[in-house]
Amino acid sequence: MRLVFLGRPGAGKGTQALRAATEFDLVHVSTGELLRTAMRQGTKLGKEAKGYVDEGRLVPDELVVKLVEESLRRVPDRKGFVLDGFPRNLAQAEALEEALRVQGEVLDAVVYFAVRSDTVLERLSGRRTCPKCGRNYHVKLMPPASDGRCDACGVELIQRKDDRPDAIRERLSIYDKETAPLIDFYRARGALVEVPGDDDEESVARRVSTALATLSDRSGRG
Ligand code: AMP
Repeated sequence: MRLVFLGRPGAGKGTQALRAATEFDLVHVSTGELLRTAMRQGTKLGKEAKGYVDEGRLVPDELVVKLVEESLRRVPDRKGFVLDGFPRNLAQAEALEEALRVQGEVLDAVVYFAVRSDTVLERLSGRRTCPKCGRNYHVKLMPPASDGRCDACGVELIQRKDDRPDAIRERLSIYDKETAPLIDFYRARGALVEVPGDDDEESVARRVSTALATLSDRSGRG
């Protein structure tokens, strides 16, 4: 299956994409994660992206499109993928279509997570992240086992710069302007699968799983 997970920041795309990747044996490609890794490692891309990411603005298309093209080239032939956080505007959606077209491929589905504003604000403002491995927690909904430290690394958790109130506002406003039009774009192509995303992780995961199981039977590819 070739999938895109779409939704506002805090809609749960990342969490659900990880679960779907495990369940359906897909390669998980998160542009936000790839950019944060590049930033942690201090690569050229990381340095170029840092200002944008920290302020919650979109990294220029040419950098992100290149990153995704490289990632998709590395997906083994028989495996599918789930794109998380890409595309985020029409230009990126068209670039993705073209990149797939040259390989004779199309997307099987775009899963759109519909969430209310209050859900998004609660999830983002309470999110804490491990600066070493990138794993996410939530102060109320998913606290680490030992106070304020990553279960896997033992490192002190931080709040991402772009999870602070100003950057959250900026990200939501950019989403409304740039990314939300993709809902109609993919609906018009008959690819949109809408999943209500306000409930807890398990309930949403069950909905995703049911929707994807049907597609997976049809596509016959991991
Ligand atoms: P995310 O983890 O998906 O919320 O992404 C975190 C940040 O990475 C975003 O706020 C952007 O600054 C940047 N980013 C991630 N994906 C993209 C994309 N497709 N286009 C531009 N910027 C992106």
